[in-house]
Amino acid sequence: MKLVFATHNQNKFNEVKLLLPKTIELLSLTDINCHEEIPETADTISGNAILKVEFIKDKYGLDCFADDTGLEVTSLNYEPGVYSARYAGEPSDSEANMKKLLEKLAGKKDRSACFKTVIALSYNEVDVLFEGLCEGTITKTKRGEKGFGYDPIFLPNGKIQTFAEMSLEEKSEIGHRGKAMRQLISYFS
Ligand code: IMP
Repeated sequence: MKLVFATHNQNKFNEVKLLLPKTIELLSLTDINCHEEIPETADTISGNAILKVEFIKDKYGLDCFADDTGLEVTSLNYEPGVYSARYAGEPSDSEANMKKLLEKLAGKKDRSACFKTVIALSYNEVDVLFEGLCEGTITKTKRGEKGFGYDPIFLPNGKIQTFAEMSLEEKSEIGHRGKAMRQLISYFS
C-alpha cells in the first residue's frame, strides 16, 4: 500500500518513517513532485490537518495523511496552539518562537504544557482523524541539539531529558506524533 505523507518537514518525515511497517510504502511530497506550500489557514489543529490532506487528495488524487501539531501552554491560555509555527511572526522561525515563549513564561509558576498532534488520513475515500497528546513542562533554558521546533524547551512528564536530548526512537515512544501514528497503524491492521 502506498501513502503520501503531506509534509515538507524532513524531521516529521523521519519520525513517521521510523514507525511505519514495511507493508506501507511512504511517499514524500518530493516523490509526487509537489513543491508548493500547502495551505494551513484553519483556526484549529484538526482543521489544518484536514486542509493539508484535502489539498493533496484534490490535486493529486492520492491516498494521503497529514499531521498538524500545536504546543498548548496552560498559563498562556493554551497559546501558541494552532499558531505555534508563526508564534513570533512570519516567516516561521523556531529560535524566535522559543525565545518569545520563554519571555512570556518568565516569572510564571505554572510551566505546564501539552503537545497535540492531529493526523488526518484519507484512504479509499474514507476520512479519519487520530490524535496524540504529550504532557510536560517548558524548561527555563534550551537543552539539546536533536529534534526540531520547540523540542529543546519541552520536558515530557516523568523524563529528565528534553525532546531535543532524546533519540528519535525515545521521542517517538512517548511523543504526541508517535501516539497518533500508532493509532493510524492500528487502523490498517
Ligand atoms: P506544524 O504541525 O508543522 O504546523 O507545526 C507547528 C509548529 O510546531 C512548528 O513551529 C513546528 O516546528 C512545531 N512542532 C511541530 N511538531 C513538533 C515536535 O514534535 N516537536 C517540537 N516542535 C514541533
